[in-house]
Amino acid sequence: MKVLVVGAGASGLVCAIKLKERGIDVTIIEKNSKLGKKLLLTGNGRCNYWNEVQSSDKYYSSDRDILKQIINSKKEQVLPFFDNLGIIPKVINGYYYPYSNQATTIVKALENKLVKLKINVIYDEEVLDIAKEQKFIVKTSKNTYIYDKVVLAMGGKANPKTGSDGLGYKLATNLGHTIRQVVPALVYIEGKDNYYQDWDGVRSEAILTLVENEKIIKQEKGEVQFTKLGISGICTFNLSGDVALGLASGKKEEIYLNLVPWFQGSKKDFKEFLNKQSKKLKNYTIGEILEGFLNKKLVNLILKLTKIKYDQKWEEINKDLIIEYLVNFKFNIKETGDFVNAQVCLGGVSLMEIDSNTLESKLVKGLYFTGEILDAHGVCGGYNLGLAWMTGLIVGDNLND
Ligand SMILES: Cc1cc2nc3c(=O)[nH]c(=O)nc-3n(C[C@H](O)[C@H](O)[C@H](O)COP(=O)(O)OP(=O)(O)OC[C@H]3O[C@@H](n4cnc5c(N)ncnc54)[C@H](O)[C@@H]3O)c2cc1C
Repeated sequence: MKVLVVGAGASGLVCAIKLKERGIDVTIIEKNSKLGKKLLLTGNGRCNYWNEVQSSDKYYSSDRDILKQIINSKKEQVLPFFDNLGIIPKVINGYYYPYSNQATTIVKALENKLVKLKINVIYDEEVLDIAKEQKFIVKTSKNTYIYDKVVLAMGGKANPKTGSDGLGYKLATNLGHTIRQVVPALVYIEGKDNYYQDWDGVRSEAILTLVENEKIIKQEKGEVQFTKLGISGICTFNLSGDVALGLASGKKEEIYLNLVPWFQGSKKDFKEFLNKQSKKLKNYTIGEILEGFLNKKLVNLILKLTKIKYDQKWEEINKDLIIEYLVNFKFNIKETGDFVNAQVCLGGVSLMEIDSNTLESKLVKGLYFTGEILDAHGVCGGYNLGLAWMTGLIVGDNLND
């Protein structure tokens, strides 16, 4: 049995290693001249390769129950796999990095294993077409090959300069598969207003509430990075897939920022709190009171938007208006960043058409899928590489004659 893995990225490498360890004749075809190009960019060059918290609510798919089965079947085997590659982790708040703090450590460990197992890797060839007759006929930019089984580990189309440019979706479609709508995810969100220059560079804790068609669908708490285009940072990233999908389906998407996440209580309670602050801080202006808990640029912006002067006193201003801006600041969404800037894709090959135990296609015998090409992704924090490793391990362990 000759097996082809298309793509020497995270999931393809793990899959090929596992197959070869089982004595299976496996070849990888990779369009780049090196393996793991995207892996090197991960975690800002540090590679956040896993997360201690492996609950299914960290992962998304149109078919969440199937995804849950996939995760539960392999989550215990990821760390032993890396331990066997000699990787010593550094764990920060549950986030796993190689102890070296270098993504190259992970890439080199995978490469070392490929070499030791004598896995055949064909570089600089792009798979352009795959047809299934008795066997798979694989056309590349340079050759035509015949294989008994094919694993599509080609990624999605996020950050296409790393190699995964969406061709995998086309190959899967040509082989009869359904692609759930693909949109960018884990990316910044652009706004429509003209004042973002005023908050550019600010980093501030907030609670972000995503409202879709007037209904709250998600909340994220964490540090928001305010930029000249809009908002960014991990909690923004974690909302971006829903925003992109909603906008693509013509839904109304709104984000509200609570800029005082440290305050527990209602707007009425917050007004009461500010009443007390103003009494405590006698003779203080509203600007000075706000500066006690909010970034100065945000204070100035809120005062500008509410047309309240820095030097006015609490008693003189429209209290409900300023409280609305502090607790429920409306961010007017224009669009999300595109695939070039996104870390992953939301959507992909439908899990309904795949056997969750083996990740073999239910439509084309001998065809398998791993990694981001599938309709599955995770939040920030090591979950997307987690999915790549787990799906690579499933196919590596279960692909059979
Ligand atoms: C900037 C950035 C930072 C990230 N940071 C993290 C992080 O810290 N933690 C985390 O969990 N996730 C992170 N991710 C996401 C993670 O990198 C991906 O989810 C993961 O790499 C997907 O693995 P994959 O095997 O499906 O695809 P990829 O790793 O994209 O690999 C696909 C491979 O297939 C090759 N290929 C594609 N088409 C063809 C073809 N036609 N012929 C031959 N070869 C082909 C590509 O060149 C590539 O090498 C990050 C992503 C980006 C862009």
